[in-house]
Amino acid sequence: MDLHELTAHELNRMLKKGEISVTDPCKSVFERIKAVEDRIKAYVTLTEKVALSKAGEVDGNLKGGKAISPLAGIPVAVKDNMCTKGVLTTCASKILGNYVPVYTSTAVERLFAQDVVMVGKTNMDEFAMGSSTENSAFGITRNPWNPETVPGGSSGGSAAAVAADEAIVALGSDTGGSIRQPAALCGVVGMKPTYGLVSRYGLVAFASSLDQIGPITKDVTDCALVLNCICGHDRMDSTSLKVNIPDYTKALVGDIKGLKIGVVRELMGEGIEGGVRDSVDKAIALLESLGAVCEEVSLSHLDYSLSAYYLIAPAEASSNLARFDGVRYGYRTPGALGDMIEMYSKTRAEGFGNEVKRRIMLGTYALSAGYYEAYYGQAQKVRTLIVEDFNRAFEKFDVLVSPTSPSVAFKIGERYEDPLRMYMSDICTIPVNLAGIPGISVPCGLADGLPVGLQIMGKALDETTVLRVAYAFEQEFGFKQKPAL
Ligand code: GLN
Repeated sequence: MDLHELTAHELNRMLKKGEISVTDPCKSVFERIKAVEDRIKAYVTLTEKVALSKAGEVDGNLKGGKAISPLAGIPVAVKDNMCTKGVLTTCASKILGNYVPVYTSTAVERLFAQDVVMVGKTNMDEFAMGSSTENSAFGITRNPWNPETVPGGSSGGSAAAVAADEAIVALGSDTGGSIRQPAALCGVVGMKPTYGLVSRYGLVAFASSLDQIGPITKDVTDCALVLNCICGHDRMDSTSLKVNIPDYTKALVGDIKGLKIGVVRELMGEGIEGGVRDSVDKAIALLESLGAVCEEVSLSHLDYSLSAYYLIAPAEASSNLARFDGVRYGYRTPGALGDMIEMYSKTRAEGFGNEVKRRIMLGTYALSAGYYEAYYGQAQKVRTLIVEDFNRAFEKFDVLVSPTSPSVAFKIGERYEDPLRMYMSDICTIPVNLAGIPGISVPCGLADGLPVGLQIMGKALDETTVLRVAYAFEQEFGFKQKPAL
C-alpha cells in the first residue's frame, strides 16, 4: 500500500516506530497529485515547495528528540476560504483572485502548531455558496468515484482531495452542510462541530451565525484527532466558546449499548432517493444490532428550515460581502475618473459570480425597510422553533440520525441552472446549522456505485457522543471501498 492511501493515525504509528520519515508521506501525496489531479482538480493552489521544506524541518526536529504530536507531518488540504499567510486565499472568487493574506486563520495555525504540513488550498463554491463546487471562478472539481458527477459542495475540493488520496486529511467549512454533504458524496468522513467550538478567526465570512470549520477525513479516528487540534477558545473570535475540551479520541470505544437514537421522520420521507433510504435503513438496523435503541421522532418545524436558511444566510452574506468593494481587497474594475460609485458597482458586477450576486440581492431584499419583519424577522422566529424541536428531541434521545444528502452524487450541470433544486441538496444538513449543534457524516454504503452518508446529530457540545456512535458504526460496518481512479 502506498503511503498516501493511509490515515493520519496509521502514518503516525509508522513515524513513531521510525519506519518512515515525515518527508515520505508528503512526497507520496505529491506523487499522487501528479498522477490524478488533472482528472479531479481538487486544488486551486498547491504549495509543494513550502510543504517539503516544512516536512524536512519537522524531520530535523524529530531527530533532535522532539516529541511527535499525533498529526506531525500529516499532509493536510485547506479549503480556500481560510486565510493562510503568504499563500493565495481566493474563496474561488475573481474578486479575491489576487488576495494574499498577511495572517493565518486560527484553525490552520493550530494545525501548524502540531507540525502538520499544508499541501495546498482546495477548490470550493465561490464564497462557500453552493452544493456542487460548480460555482467556482477557477473551474469545477470532479468526484473521484465518477468524474461525470459533482463532489458536492461547497467544500468539494477538500472532500475530493481526501477521497482521491491527494491529502491525508482536510479542513472544510460548513454553513448549511458544506462539510457533511461533500463528505457524503465522496465517501469520506466530515464533521461540523458545535457553533463556537472552532474559531472562525481568519475564515472568510459567509453567514456568521452559521459558519463553522471542521475536519474532512478518511475515518472517524482521524476526525477526532483533527478536532482535538483545532477546537478551543480563541480571543480573536467573539463567538468562540470558553469550555473545557475533552480528548475526543476517548470517545472511540466501539460500544453504544443502551444509547437512544432518534430517526428523524421529516428527513426520511419525500425527496430522499430510494438507494439512499435503503442504505440508511440498513445503517439503522446495524446500530440496533450493536445494542442501541432506535425509534422514530418527529421534528415538525424542520419542513421550514430551508426557507428560514435561505433568508438568514443571504441576509448575513449581503452584509459580510459589502467589504469587497475594489478598495480594501483584491480585484478592481476602474470606473470613470473620480466616479467612485461606478468603480464600486463595476467591481462587484464583474468580480462576483452569479450565485453570489443572487444571494446578495436576496439578502438585501430580506433586510430592507418594510420587509425586514416579514422575512428576516419571521425566519429568525422559525429558527427558534427549530432549536426548540431539537431540544425536545434531545430530552429523549442521545443522538439523532438521518441521511446526510437526499441523493448520491449528481451529474455535473444537472442542477446548475435550477437554484431551487440545488438548494434542496441541503435539506438534511441545514437544520443542524440553524440549531448550532454538531453533526457528522460517515459512509454507510453505495447506491448505484456511489457513496451514501449517514448523518449523526448530537446535543450542543456533545461531540463525544456523536463520535462514539460514528466510530462504533464505522468499525462494525467496515466501509472499505475506494474510488477506482
Ligand atoms: N449549500 C448551502 C448554500 O449554498 C450551504 C453552503 C455551506 O454550507 N457553505 O448556502
